[in-house]
Amino acid sequence: MSTPVPSGPDDPVALTAALIRCPSVSPEDHGCLDLLCPRLEKLGFNNERIRFAPVENLWAKHGSGAPLLCFAGHTDVVPTGPREEWQTDPFEPTIKDGVMYGRGAADMKSGLAAMIVATERFISKHPKHKGTLAFLLTSDEEGPSIDGTRRVMEVLETRKEKIDWCLVGEPTSGDKLGDVVKIGRRGSLSGKLTVHGVQGHVAYPHLADNPVHAVAPALSELSSRSWDKGNQFFQPTTFQVSNISAGTGAPNVVPGELKLRFNIRFSTEQTVEKLQQTITEIFDRHKVNYTIEWFVSGLPFFTAPGVLSQAVQQSIKEFTGLATELSTTGGTSDGRFIAPTGAQVVELGVINASIHKVNESVRIADIEMLAKMYERVMELLLAVD
Ligand SMILES: [Zn+2]
Repeated sequence: MSTPVPSGPDDPVALTAALIRCPSVSPEDHGCLDLLCPRLEKLGFNNERIRFAPVENLWAKHGSGAPLLCFAGHTDVVPTGPREEWQTDPFEPTIKDGVMYGRGAADMKSGLAAMIVATERFISKHPKHKGTLAFLLTSDEEGPSIDGTRRVMEVLETRKEKIDWCLVGEPTSGDKLGDVVKIGRRGSLSGKLTVHGVQGHVAYPHLADNPVHAVAPALSELSSRSWDKGNQFFQPTTFQVSNISAGTGAPNVVPGELKLRFNIRFSTEQTVEKLQQTITEIFDRHKVNYTIEWFVSGLPFFTAPGVLSQAVQQSIKEFTGLATELSTTGGTSDGRFIAPTGAQVVELGVINASIHKVNESVRIADIEMLAKMYERVMELLLAVD
């Protein structure tokens, strides 16, 4: 039995549902900002829609001067995956047993709804708060992430607008809302390797050069290597092969070429240059004949525990009693574009167990609780007492 979706205008659950109804598969915004912008405008925010078609971005501000506390997030979602594996329509939010199902329910339309409603409540109580309250929203987080937060940060940089504290609404929680917040993320470096050999008959290997055999010892070394031990806030660096292919399909032909893709998630103990050097040294030492293309999708970033993380921890503690874990695990996030400007970046959002999966879901009690936590953080940082 499903429960009706609430419709109250100041109910964050209702707003989450309205956002899920916009099928905003990345990089589409599909009307999400049109739902959020009028609400911010009504509060007196100065909304700036910054479009790099088809990507929709929003930079909105309320108040003036420092400190600037910014909520950041994305309106886009990943594709649904096989529709037949969904028990409900992914773009028709459905509540069953206190859980709302729909694409983006956890990543991160509930986060957006909680931020907006929390801001409405905070401003109604503190219309003349300290400093500036801002929103940086994009529809290009799940895709290439080129025309989203990255470009908006470039615009802000040219204007010398500076974010002091950034609270990202990505789903960070593990078992319970607020048990984990992120204060950084590992870096991500990918490589596309082509190993060149010589095709031939398997019965005449001396006339061929097998790229599979050539790369195998190097791969063995790379996959068993201990890169570093990590540090207080970062897990050790890891290497994974994600794709490998070679061979013509025929059982009697030595392949002439091998293609391989790998990814490294790295801690602040590494740099891109150091990793590239280590990897090319290993291929060279094993006399592999190769060409390689590199892709850096994010450098590691880290916010030392400070004013923002303390406010977030205090807020979580007050509502749940949990001593939250400050973590840097998981995939990268748009925080990577904001942290390098010197902003403190902390991510707090709902439970992430179902994100990017079929039947994505969020507990509706957590949406309301997250709104309370966000409101409390604003109070701790910007309320004039
Ligand atoms: Zn997300």
